[in-house]
Amino acid sequence: MLAEELPAQPGASASEPAQRVGPGAYPRPGLAPVSWREHYYPDVADAEWSDWKWQFRNRITTLAALDRFFPLSAETVTSLGAVLHEFRLGIPPYYLSLIDPHDPHDPLRLQAVPSIEEFLDLNVGHEDPLGEESHSPVPGIVHRYPDRCLLIATNNCALYCRYCTRKRIMEEDVAPAARHAFDGMIDYIARTPQIRDVIISGGDPLTWSTARLVELLDRLDAIPHLEIIRIGTRVPVTLPQRITPELCAALERYSALWINTHFNHPREVTREAAAACAQLQRAGIPMNNQSVLLRGVNDDPVTMRALVHALMRIRVRPYYLYQCDLVRGSDHLRTTVARGLEIIESLRGHTSGLAIPTYVVDAPGGGGKVPLQPQYLADYSQGRATLRNYQGRVFHYDDPGA
Ligand SMILES: *Cc1c(COP(=O)(O)O)cnc(C)c1O
Ligand code: SF4
Repeated sequence: MLAEELPAQPGASASEPAQRVGPGAYPRPGLAPVSWREHYYPDVADAEWSDWKWQFRNRITTLAALDRFFPLSAETVTSLGAVLHEFRLGIPPYYLSLIDPHDPHDPLRLQAVPSIEEFLDLNVGHEDPLGEESHSPVPGIVHRYPDRCLLIATNNCALYCRYCTRKRIMEEDVAPAARHAFDGMIDYIARTPQIRDVIISGGDPLTWSTARLVELLDRLDAIPHLEIIRIGTRVPVTLPQRITPELCAALERYSALWINTHFNHPREVTREAAAACAQLQRAGIPMNNQSVLLRGVNDDPVTMRALVHALMRIRVRPYYLYQCDLVRGSDHLRTTVARGLEIIESLRGHTSGLAIPTYVVDAPGGGGKVPLQPQYLADYSQGRATLRNYQGRVFHYDDPGA
């Protein structure tokens, strides 16, 4: 039953999304992966370039190193010095080579290179925006939901994303969890039988050696009530060279292992990243993606559509799209909830349902993830649901007996 058009969805500028993602608009130039390796690292041999240890060792971690590629004024050096004291810098050469050296607003640059805005925002936002410390029964565990918990394995990452929610553990002088701290974490999971799902996160657990990772996985695998283990890692995106046959052979042994990764932009879906994901998949590991909605990076329907399509092509399922948390130093990268809803609305019905992530706001203060959807249920009363479809057309569904 088709009725009148409904008024526009609050927040979503209803007429726009359809136009902005029309067939002519996609693909658009500039979204396909490009590498500026020749510009940044003309003399590095392939053997070194494809070695993750070389990539890791040669990360940009200081302002002096950054200045070689992106000249910094004396004033900027002072401000960014304060930023790095609060939150480290780390950019592998591989990821740097994906950044357009001539575009100060390059979406990959915005994620990786600290800016003066980050300094200006340092006192905006929170140290622990999700109240994780208050849901931490033992150091290193965040147990917020009944049947699953987070295990914070490390405070090292290949690349430090400028908007990271867990900056608090990555201040200059915070040491990584000592080996004995893992006894407490594993003991907590072992004596909490309702936990059937553990997420090994950080930081990035794939910055560990394979031997160290296997040691933790074996200890978790031995807990009888644990049904699944997830690894949260951005390494397939920021350091895909780390996904080696040796690592995959080790991970293949765990039957209930899942990997959640974190692509934010279609240009991150390079040949190297695709190969890394394919190797993990061949080891039997299903892969999902969690993106963060970031201003100037991916907060428009065209870019997001290109991203989810690129992910589908490499068999990585878009799982969550996160509203950016209120973490200090990130205000300039946040966008509105209306923008997030508009993007979801531009996808739903217009492309494969499999490609559409669940849009969530992690409730500030520790409420957990709250899913948000554009409003498709226009009215529901007296056993009759009034539904709006993706084209804005209206239908009715009557409950039994109504
Ligand atoms: C996100 C998160 C999880 C996992 O949530 P899912 O919806 O199951 O993916 C678990 N614990 C914490 C603390 C989280 O933030
Ligand atoms: S990889 Fe994850 S934990 Fe590490 S800095 Fe980025 S968002 Fe934070």
